[in-house]
Amino acid sequence: MAVTTGSERARGALSYLRRKISTGEWAVGERIPIEPELADQMGVGRSTVREAVRSLASMGMLETAPGRGTFVRSASPTSSLLDEFLADFSLEEILSYRRALEIEAAQQAALHRSDEDLAALEQATIEEVGCSRCPVLSLTDSGDGAFDSRFHRLIFDAAKNRLLAALYAGINDQLRTPQHRGRLANVATGAEMERDHQRVLEAIRKRDFIDAVHAMVDHVDHDVVIVNEQQEVVPPLARTPEQQQRIDDVRDGRPATV
Ligand SMILES: [Zn+2]
Repeated sequence: MAVTTGSERARGALSYLRRKISTGEWAVGERIPIEPELADQMGVGRSTVREAVRSLASMGMLETAPGRGTFVRSASPTSSLLDEFLADFSLEEILSYRRALEIEAAQQAALHRSDEDLAALEQATIEEVGCSRCPVLSLTDSGDGAFDSRFHRLIFDAAKNRLLAALYAGINDQLRTPQHRGRLANVATGAEMERDHQRVLEAIRKRDFIDAVHAMVDHVDHDVVIVNEQQEVVPPLARTPEQQQRIDDVRDGRPATV
């Protein structure tokens, strides 16, 4: 029987947990199994598990919410710097910045997309048909956190701007942390999501960066929003009937009503 030292076991436990996270087997936002279960799986003591979890938490990959469990916070240790930076900002500020990223990415994607990018976006649009909500932040009904919107991520790939993509991924990780997650909702219905995505896709297909921007502005408005305990949107989406009419006119390609 092989004899392993305490530090070897600790290293083994750390890489076991890290692999579960980096491969996506445990998705960002998901709760990981409890300590005794992990100890069983790895054949180590609970203190070894605790030590490994603590190390991953210091790298920003795991986060323990007292009384709720330990959650995956980031798939890689590199975004922990960004996480720390973002922690000083309010959810409203982060969400507003996220909108700016989505809109800029849509514009860049329309300008820089390759045929392969377009094919991947088309595929993702098809796969996400029938979802009851845009799965952009895994705020889906199933709540398993395993599904992230490929469509939104692929727009950042097509935009060919690594900084936009890195900041977007970091912000999404931050929004999926337990303290923010409960305050966010996706208020677009599945049908609205399909229509919105189709419109963004169409603009990117035509390399029409103006339409891409407008389509994305319209989508992010109800894509991820802040809700209170009664699940009411705060601040409410305040559109007058006239404003809504103008948006609908543009969306449907009618001459704008004045
Ligand atoms: Zn979406």
